[in-house]
Amino acid sequence: MSLLQQDIDALRVKPLSAARNFINNKWCDAQSGATMDVTSPIDGSVLTSLADSDKADIDMAVEAARSTFEAGTWSHMAPSERKKIMLKWADLIEQNALEIAVTGVRDNGTDIRMAYKGEPLMAASTIRFYAEAVDKRNGEITPTSKDVLSLIHKEPVGVVGIIIPWNFPLMIGAWKLAPALAAGNSLVLKPSEEATLSTLRIVELAAEAGLPAGILNVVTGRGASVGEALALHMDVEVLAFTGSGGVGAKLLEYSARSNMKRVYLELGGKSPNLVFADAPDLEQAAAETAASIFRNNGQVCVAASRLMVEEPIYDGFVKAVCKHAENLRIGDPLSLENNTGALANAMQLEKTKAAISQAQQQGADLRTGGEALHSESGGYFHQPTVLANVTGEMDVVQQEVFGPVLAARSFTTEDEAISFANETVYGLSSVIWTKDISRAHRAISRIKSGMVQVNCFSGADVTAPLGGVRQSGNGVDRSLHAFEKYENLKAAWIKL
Ligand code: NAD
Repeated sequence: MSLLQQDIDALRVKPLSAARNFINNKWCDAQSGATMDVTSPIDGSVLTSLADSDKADIDMAVEAARSTFEAGTWSHMAPSERKKIMLKWADLIEQNALEIAVTGVRDNGTDIRMAYKGEPLMAASTIRFYAEAVDKRNGEITPTSKDVLSLIHKEPVGVVGIIIPWNFPLMIGAWKLAPALAAGNSLVLKPSEEATLSTLRIVELAAEAGLPAGILNVVTGRGASVGEALALHMDVEVLAFTGSGGVGAKLLEYSARSNMKRVYLELGGKSPNLVFADAPDLEQAAAETAASIFRNNGQVCVAASRLMVEEPIYDGFVKAVCKHAENLRIGDPLSLENNTGALANAMQLEKTKAAISQAQQQGADLRTGGEALHSESGGYFHQPTVLANVTGEMDVVQQEVFGPVLAARSFTTEDEAISFANETVYGLSSVIWTKDISRAHRAISRIKSGMVQVNCFSGADVTAPLGGVRQSGNGVDRSLHAFEKYENLKAAWIKL
């Protein structure tokens, strides 16, 4: 469907109801009655309120999840029946995609084209992928001696806690919700307080599709209260998280302090982008380099925020990337005239400004950008920014900004390029541009990251895993491997 401005404009003025918890398929306020404001990143206005929940609400949601799991309402339902409900859910999300996308953009500022495709539509296709898979996965029989039969059963773990961030809440949420639900678990989801509204809408649609009460519960509110209570809960078997490394480290600690629940972390990155002089198409490489860091203002976990270019083509390539950056139209994310929206919140804007000024103080050259935009609107906009001649010691090279900031430098040999690529604590994604197939294979094996992209920046398909190594996390989202996070293997021995 092509997007029409008049449809978007009609939806953007729709009043938003207060965001409440969804437990046992019913809306409910925080038991304390507390609420917090939901603020628009587009103009800083208050959009609605959000239940500011706490431990009591998490206890209620986990209890609902536990009792439905033990009752077998969903966990014992035939996989083919679970599939039908999930497919219906995906259809309903798709039918309401524009309304869901506009709601999400009002909440987190992503431009509408990207939000429409990357959020409801991606969530629907992810739900379909796992729904279709669930009745095609068999157990195993192991090759033991003839007088005994040894079976391996795949069982749902029980109650799964899910904590998600504000960038792409539906896409990232679906990467976790869909395999966890398809496997037969009961869930408690905590969305980010910075982007809750679209998640609540798709959860409501799950109930409409026939998902029984108590299987998918949502508790809204702050990380330090709701997130912590979920992560410390003694009756949650698995916790799946996407977010920052700082919070990821806390979750590991909460697990150790409570019931040693399994914790899966999808964390940040500082992904390298290596451009060799023999790249097949340098103009395309420059365009995709700009897109890889500036789409959604760099608020993308796999954003290629470090650019390394082979010395002879360095200056020209950086200039070409700057040109693409300067051509981006940044502004109201609900206007089809723009192709980049707002940063998600005031803190992200401040973090971006601080990272740029610190990099300049540390000796980086500002080649383009560097200024906040449209401050009169009350929203959080910033120019795409290219910093050149950075060095490995600079914070802008070592620390994730999660904003529209590219840090560029040159290299002279392949070894140097690979050592630059591996010089941070992260290992989420990487990109390499070269015509040399041997070099591409060497890079794939030598770069420490969960994903290597050669001559493209496109690894966004649900069929392949996405996960980090080192301090970018553990376990994977996407692909059939994601089921492994939400299942236990049980061995059964039967004397014959
Ligand atoms: P964040 O870590 O601040 O918050 C993520 C979630 O954790 C939110 O729901 C928040 O409320 C919750 N939280 C905060 N404190 C908590 C606590 N003490 N206990 C439990 N939960 C708590 O991250 P963010 O700012 O929402 O998202 C940006 C980060 O997410 C970036 O670092 C980015 O790289 C990362 N990210 C990673 C991926 C990936 O797949 N690897 C994808 C998207 C974003």
